Amino acid sequence: MFKYTSIFIQRYCPRQCPYCTAKDVRGKRKLRVHEWQRIFEYLDKEGFEFHLILGNESLAYPWIVDFVKMMRGRYYTLYTTFPEPFHSRTTEKLIEAGVYSLSCGVDYISSEGLTDDYIKSTWGVQVMSKIKDRIPDHQLTITIHRKNYKAIPQIMDVLTKMGFILGASFIEFSHDGKHDFFPTKDKLLGYVFTEEDREELDYVMNLVADGIESGKYYVQPPPEYFRDAAKYAIDISWHCSKPLILSIEEDGSLRCCAYRKGEEICKYTMFDLIDGIVSLDDVRRLWKKESRECPGCYWSYPYIVEYWEKHNEEFGKKVIQVHASKYYRR
Ligand code: SF4
Ligand code: SF4
Repeated sequence: MFKYTSIFIQRYCPRQCPYCTAKDVRGKRKLRVHEWQRIFEYLDKEGFEFHLILGNESLAYPWIVDFVKMMRGRYYTLYTTFPEPFHSRTTEKLIEAGVYSLSCGVDYISSEGLTDDYIKSTWGVQVMSKIKDRIPDHQLTITIHRKNYKAIPQIMDVLTKMGFILGASFIEFSHDGKHDFFPTKDKLLGYVFTEEDREELDYVMNLVADGIESGKYYVQPPPEYFRDAAKYAIDISWHCSKPLILSIEEDGSLRCCAYRKGEEICKYTMFDLIDGIVSLDDVRRLWKKESRECPGCYWSYPYIVEYWEKHNEEFGKKVIQVHASKYYRR
């Protein structure tokens, strides 16, 4: 049963994080707010419980304020890294419009690097510190990669003490070249883990898992996600197993997941679902076929969703909706 979504409401991003090509993907067009409204009314009717609104950079278009007004009463998080000039024009208006939750990418807590993954981090922490108590829910989310993993316990310690709730996901690459926005391993040299990292990654991520279990770090993914890191984050071989997350492109077309466009599923749109041209059962069948062909990932969102479906469905809903965790309950 699809219960959650991951949605690209637009693809532009002014940043140039060295490990990301998400901004190079495009739909045929961007939907307008009234079209998203139709889509969300359908998703409400079908009982969807949470929406991961992925931007790439959500603040980049002025209509985001109307989008947030339209989303009142729903559980979602909106991803942004607060880039200028968009941030000073828009963030305050989003708060006034009643934004439910903001999620911001933070990979470092120092500003020693000049690349955008450093810049977005320090900027994101500053802005989120000022606004987090004025919105119902928030999250900083860390991409863990070869350049920052040894500092992750320290980063989590500092950010938890600052009152942040943290997400984290390991860096991805595509084994078959069909993840449409993560480059292949070759293009990510220096960022992806190698066999040489196995022992130390295992050691550091077990420290993270211990810190979560002891309540020291407020982190959304369960400790098991980090304890398994050496197995999955090097090979990118974890695999989702259930159609729980419906993924949607900026033009309303369906996707296999946020990483993969797929080959059949993307021929249909949300409007085909709304108009009854395909059913959610048809989409589930297509999803199963497409996802079986995927060599895997180690993305934390499907991992968390599947984990809680298995362990405690009701509490899992809370984990997703308010960024709670197994050891940190809100
Ligand atoms: S801010 Fe996010 S979407 Fe933009 S380039 Fe960096 S990782 Fe990619
Ligand atoms: S394993 Fe599943 S969630 Fe991960 S990339 Fe493949 S189809 Fe997507």
